[in-house]
Amino acid sequence: MAHPRKSPDVSQAEVLIIGGGLVGATLAVALGQSGVDTVVVDTADPKACLAAEFDGRASAIALGSQRVLKGLGLWRAVQSSAAPILDIRVSEGNSLFFLHYDHKDVGGEAGGGEAGGDEPFGHMVENRELRKSLFHRLEDLGTVKILAPDAVKALKRGSAGVTADLAGGGKILARLGVAAEGRGSQTRQDAGIRVTNWSYNQSGIVCTVAHERCHDFIAHEHFLPAGPFAILPLVGDQARPGHQSSLVWTERAELAPKIMALDEDGFMAELKSRFGDFLGNLEVVGPKWCYPLGLQFAERTIDQRLALIGDAAHAMHPIAGQGLNMGLRDVAALAEVVLDARRLGLDIGEATVLERYQRWRRFDNTLMLAMTDGLNKLFSNDVRPLRLARDLGLAAVNRLPPLKRVFMRHAMGLVGDLPRLIRNLPL
Ligand SMILES: Cc1cc2nc3c(=O)[nH]c(=O)nc-3n(C[C@H](O)[C@H](O)[C@H](O)COP(=O)(O)OP(=O)(O)OC[C@H]3O[C@@H](n4cnc5c(N)ncnc54)[C@H](O)[C@@H]3O)c2cc1C
Repeated sequence: MAHPRKSPDVSQAEVLIIGGGLVGATLAVALGQSGVDTVVVDTADPKACLAAEFDGRASAIALGSQRVLKGLGLWRAVQSSAAPILDIRVSEGNSLFFLHYDHKDVGGEAGGGEAGGDEPFGHMVENRELRKSLFHRLEDLGTVKILAPDAVKALKRGSAGVTADLAGGGKILARLGVAAEGRGSQTRQDAGIRVTNWSYNQSGIVCTVAHERCHDFIAHEHFLPAGPFAILPLVGDQARPGHQSSLVWTERAELAPKIMALDEDGFMAELKSRFGDFLGNLEVVGPKWCYPLGLQFAERTIDQRLALIGDAAHAMHPIAGQGLNMGLRDVAALAEVVLDARRLGLDIGEATVLERYQRWRRFDNTLMLAMTDGLNKLFSNDVRPLRLARDLGLAAVNRLPPLKRVFMRHAMGLVGDLPRLIRNLPL
């Protein structure tokens, strides 16, 4: 993926993936390594995507997603830069109530017998590292062709297949098209698939912070009136591991640009007033980013010879760090459905194949969208009766280990009708 190639005149493929972000590129690896001829078209220059200033986010990769990445040979490359999340502490405002999750509480029989009792909830992985690992893997796969930067000018989908005319002059013929262009998916719009969406009137400020004391691989979610303030452990500097964290700081949309515009001292003062001093002195490392936050879901995730995956299908609040995890589950399900059909000699772009994918992912995605939306609405305000109910709720859940375990297994991506990759089986 690192070397953009000149578009050929006509390419024949089985699958055309439009959008080679983290989700689209993972699908390309899944299909490509199973021998499916795949073309990926992305408007962004791959070299620019790997630059430090492109994406400063780190993602909480749940155990289920880690299994997908392992099954696709991607995990080994990111492992050394992946920080395990051993403990999660949830607190709110100045309240003393907090919810405490310890990874050791999940495992064994009570945990469903899948997590061995000592496996972390997940890992924090910098998006840049994940992208690097994907690009390297794609370079090794002779079955995947990357056309980037390039764009689909016109996409025709008919009963026999898909034809894409590219801005760079090429043409692609495929059996199935996949839209993985993120929230603003043009392919989804052109297919007439409507979305329901709303803004939270919040922005997510993201930066990396170096701190004096080790984070001990504990993730903190601190609920403030403007929204959650998450402190997520990173491996950070290899010479001094455990002394850097990724911040996802939710702020009111009108205030976020003002905070972003502050000078170093001003920004640090705002940051410290929310972060506290439990990790000692703080220092911002590298650039800061600001993302508008909103929810969006597509009314359907399929159309004739077309499937939607990742943020093109569903985009959610980062409150529970689940957007990418949901996208990776789409990948595991779609790849399995396509490969099963192919092994039976069926047309992989047929409606029955795509319907299986849509049915499979619908419930899980809707549930997670509703959960992240509900959590954000419940916690991002300062109404007194709600605060009391929240505090009591947090304290009650903390005292109910079975309920805690249900929440934990859900967040770890180990619940429901799981694709083979998440069950540690080959595709
Ligand atoms: C602040 C923040 C923190 C988050 N933290 C987490 C977390 O901890 N854990 C988690 O699971 N999720 C997290 N998420 C969500 C996660 O980042 C997204 O769900 C994920 O990046 C979506 O990936 P994607 O590949 O579907 O879309 P994108 O990342 O949007 O990628 C889309 C790709 O398509 C390309 N493209 C766009 N338009 C076109 C076009 N017309 N033609 C061709 N290519 C096109 C783009 O160049 C890009 O490469 C977070 C989100 C935010 C905002």
